[in-house]
Amino acid sequence: DSIPALLARTAETWPEREAAVFTGEGIRWTWREFAARVDRLAAGLLRLGLGHGDRIGIWAPNRSEWLLTQFATARIGVILVNVNPAYRLHELEFALKKTGCRALVLAERFKSSDYVGMINRLVPELARAQPGQLECRKLPDLRDVVTLGETSYPGCHRFMDVEAMGEAVAASELDALTAALDANEPINIQFTSGTTGAPKGATLTHRNIVNNAHFVTGAMKATEADRVCIPVPFYHCFGMVMGTLGCVTKGATIVVPGEGFDPAATLSCVAAERCTALYGVPTMFVAMLEHPDFAQHDLSSLRTGIMAGAPCPIEVMKQVQSKMHMSEVTIAYGMTETSPVSFQSGTDTPLEKRVSSVGQIQPHLEVKIVREDGSIANVGEQGQLLTRGYSVMCGYWGEPERTAEAVDAEGWMRTGDLARIDAEGYCNITGRVKDMILRGGENIYPREIEEFLYTHPDVSQVQVFGIPDHKYGEIVAAWIVPRPGTTPTEAGIKEFCRDQIAHFKIPAVIRFKDELPMTVTGKPQKFVMRDAMIEELE
Ligand code: ATP
Ligand code: MG
Repeated sequence: DSIPALLARTAETWPEREAAVFTGEGIRWTWREFAARVDRLAAGLLRLGLGHGDRIGIWAPNRSEWLLTQFATARIGVILVNVNPAYRLHELEFALKKTGCRALVLAERFKSSDYVGMINRLVPELARAQPGQLECRKLPDLRDVVTLGETSYPGCHRFMDVEAMGEAVAASELDALTAALDANEPINIQFTSGTTGAPKGATLTHRNIVNNAHFVTGAMKATEADRVCIPVPFYHCFGMVMGTLGCVTKGATIVVPGEGFDPAATLSCVAAERCTALYGVPTMFVAMLEHPDFAQHDLSSLRTGIMAGAPCPIEVMKQVQSKMHMSEVTIAYGMTETSPVSFQSGTDTPLEKRVSSVGQIQPHLEVKIVREDGSIANVGEQGQLLTRGYSVMCGYWGEPERTAEAVDAEGWMRTGDLARIDAEGYCNITGRVKDMILRGGENIYPREIEEFLYTHPDVSQVQVFGIPDHKYGEIVAAWIVPRPGTTPTEAGIKEFCRDQIAHFKIPAVIRFKDELPMTVTGKPQKFVMRDAMIEELE
């Protein structure tokens, strides 16, 4: 199915059920209302002159307009370019230029950042332009800028005015466009998180993401009775594919606790909206579990959810099941380039496997684990994970060489992740190829050391990585965020490791910090920590 065909079916099946709730904005839409709003906006975008195959960027946090834009663009075959709300001018320019965006939808502000002010610096021509008549030197493809909110800004359209322009358009005009869509065409360009360096724009088709959304929510046994709390960013595949699109595949309610992640707001939202499922990366679950008001929230409505996006510490997984009532929580593993999920545990995966693996391969996908020389690894042997199937992207937009490096001629996606798979097909992600530490002749996997350090009572979060050393090539370093109210010491942590893990794995350098540098998706950026620590040691 194409994305609009899917939405139409859901809206026909459950017209009066709740489709979306944005607690921060006070919005509640039924599927009927939601589909009608999507059509109005789609028609408005047509009136702006956008059409099949054009690109439109969206640079905004989790707002209702994001959701409308996601489905309105798909309705008329416009390719949506997700721009990370944490991007600043340099990165925004890179993303818009790379994808040749014809229009940009942006929030007025988010947290303390003034997006309209920033866009005026990037596009000084806006101040003098009539809306729709923009000519920008730096971004020659950019014609229209659309702001959310009620204020009018020079050269910009207001979102509500674009929607109003769509009122005169007949549904038959949209239906004809939708009917002409090919589900194998690109509909979305998603940038990767930037955990290991500069983000890459993965180009995905209707078929890629609709199927993945379907299987991901299927693994949770989601139905129209579920209410899924989505605090993860829409700009990322976790939010927009596993989240919003996933809900559309099942008719489940999309519940959005706010523009950005806030542990307290998320907990109150789950309680007030009686959510049955909750999504998050591990760091978000940690923040919720450790929140001082945690115990005051009634989370008894929760049943399932997804923890994904980064290694899920076993301890955190156990607490999510016991303290957050998510006894049927699933773990998922994936990457933007594969739509995203390729492994996921089910709601009934044995507990032991559920906490210790990322589950089994999803239906209709193939997997192999290869050694450095490209030969296939044995059962239980670690190697690089490769996946193949409907979920693999068409490529990095405008970057055939990087695409060829990532996807081989036979269609295998090189994930860049290290993994091992047991005889029953359960997969363990053991780290990233890039993160492996080479100390002397020893290959060291940060993940293993991190899991061990998490068992220390004073450790709230920890990241392990290699830093250069003239004697060993690299040595092990750890960046630890202590639990509130504790003051662990470097000597104490080393003592804790002694006789428990091999001497060469014991971090040689340990630093205690208030937080981890993270991507907006909540992933710790080891390369940033490594650079900071190298600088500190100099
Ligand atoms: P970039 O490619 O820009 O450096 P990124 O790889 O973090 O960033 P994403 O596509 O958002 O960008 O994330 C995919 C990666 O996240 C995977 O390759 C893997 O390393 C990690 N990951 C995802 N889910 C899990 C999981 N359940 N357990 C361990 N790692 C995971
Ligand atoms: Mg990646």
